[in-house]
Amino acid sequence: RPSIVWFRDDLRLADHPALHAAAEHGAPIVAVYVLDEESPGIRPLGAAAHWWLHGSLTALAESLARLGVPLVLRRGAAGPIIAELAASVDAEAVLWNRRYGGAERAVDTEIKAGLRENGVLAHSFAGSLLFEPWTISTGAGGSYSVFTPFWRACNAAPPPRQPYPAPQSLEGRSASLDSDDLASWALLPTRPDWAGGLRAAWVPGEDAAHESLTTFLRDTLPRYASERDAPAEEATSRLSPHLRWGEISPYQVWHATQQVQRTATGADAASGIRFLTELGWREFAWHVLFHAPDLATVNLRRDYDAFPWPPLDERALEAWKHGRTGFALVDAGMRELWRTGSMHNRVRMVTASFLIKNLLIDWRQGEQWFWDCLVDADSASNPFGWQWVAGSGADAAPYFRVFNPELQAKKFDPNEEYIRQNIPEWATDAYPAPLVDLGETRRAALAAYAELKRPT
Ligand code: FAD
Repeated sequence: RPSIVWFRDDLRLADHPALHAAAEHGAPIVAVYVLDEESPGIRPLGAAAHWWLHGSLTALAESLARLGVPLVLRRGAAGPIIAELAASVDAEAVLWNRRYGGAERAVDTEIKAGLRENGVLAHSFAGSLLFEPWTISTGAGGSYSVFTPFWRACNAAPPPRQPYPAPQSLEGRSASLDSDDLASWALLPTRPDWAGGLRAAWVPGEDAAHESLTTFLRDTLPRYASERDAPAEEATSRLSPHLRWGEISPYQVWHATQQVQRTATGADAASGIRFLTELGWREFAWHVLFHAPDLATVNLRRDYDAFPWPPLDERALEAWKHGRTGFALVDAGMRELWRTGSMHNRVRMVTASFLIKNLLIDWRQGEQWFWDCLVDADSASNPFGWQWVAGSGADAAPYFRVFNPELQAKKFDPNEEYIRQNIPEWATDAYPAPLVDLGETRRAALAAYAELKRPT
């Protein structure tokens, strides 16, 4: 009886514990991907994510075909689809790597119970996080809300396991089944085709993910610690969408970095530690989401619910979205996002701070825009990042920290390289005048925050 391997946010062959277990077991394998934007609470993907998913599934289907296994595609609520597939092939087991969002866990728990009732085994594995959220707890048994002790606890825990190899060949081990045609899902934009900038910036897929990791560790890691905050320097790994879609696992990134660290000294070693710590922030975001599944909609610190947001200024929101605020670093970031589906981390902080603290627009509006535009948008890191900037999140920036986009530009883009890369009309008459007065709006934001803090 066949094993079904259910691919989700893990579109790879190497270090895929569920696929590895199925391959070792020896039975025929059915590889399935379900595009589920219908189950209760599942957040429909954004447009840039759809674009990435198309490329990533194409790459996965090709690699699986080389192993001798077709990828079966289905679209709809995962529960009935997995149950129907299991029944139609008389599966012995369904295997998958675990997910950590609230709605996703609810779906998986229900599916597991349904399969077991019908005599089908369900096995789940750890593949997407180095430290699963429930394995790291405070002395008192609770969850962490501050990064440093969280990461210390992770580092004191048993170290991440070694990655599993990709299966060699599965020839003769496939079971045939109908699949949707990927093109029929219409994940790619057509009229208009706005994805030219995304295609120029990215190659989705497992091979490209490993290429990014290898070149980063070889060429860029030594300057990571000193230059990672400068958006024009291209000093970061650009692994986030590959990690988001699971084209590479954090175990692979962790161990490859540790390998380099073994011979690194001085500043190089410090860069490696810094990079691993950033992977730690990813772990922390998922830890926080696991314990607060409504992170994208509800303030983690509930005292922020009383924040006196003024009525939404649609015009200002549109200017921000399209990079026409008249503040160069903000506009450069927003245009980078629109064009490439990504934005440098420092600039994400600056653009988010500007929306919340200079335009006084609710962080949820910005989170939704990023969700739609980012190729790496994930349900933990994106709301986590937004709440961090807003001050309402875990280990958040204090509310009075208002990034000044002009000072940030001077400090992190002193030669205006990043600004010019992204704003062709910079420093000409065609560039918009400032939308707001930075000092005035900052004072208004601080007054609003002060109101929030006033004891009632
Ligand atoms: P590197 O500096 O090379 O870091 C390596 C990896 O560590 C990244 O690929 C990423 O997986 C992880 N990482 C680094 N910084 C963070 C961080 N602050 N939080 C969580 N993980 C981190 N990251 C996402 O992956 N998806 C998002 O949707 C997302 N939304 C964000 C929204 C806001 C408002 C902010 C301030 C940050 C957001 N980030 C998000 C975090 C960060 O900006 C990106 O992970 C980073 O820019 C990716 O570039 P890189 O792969 O070159 O990072």
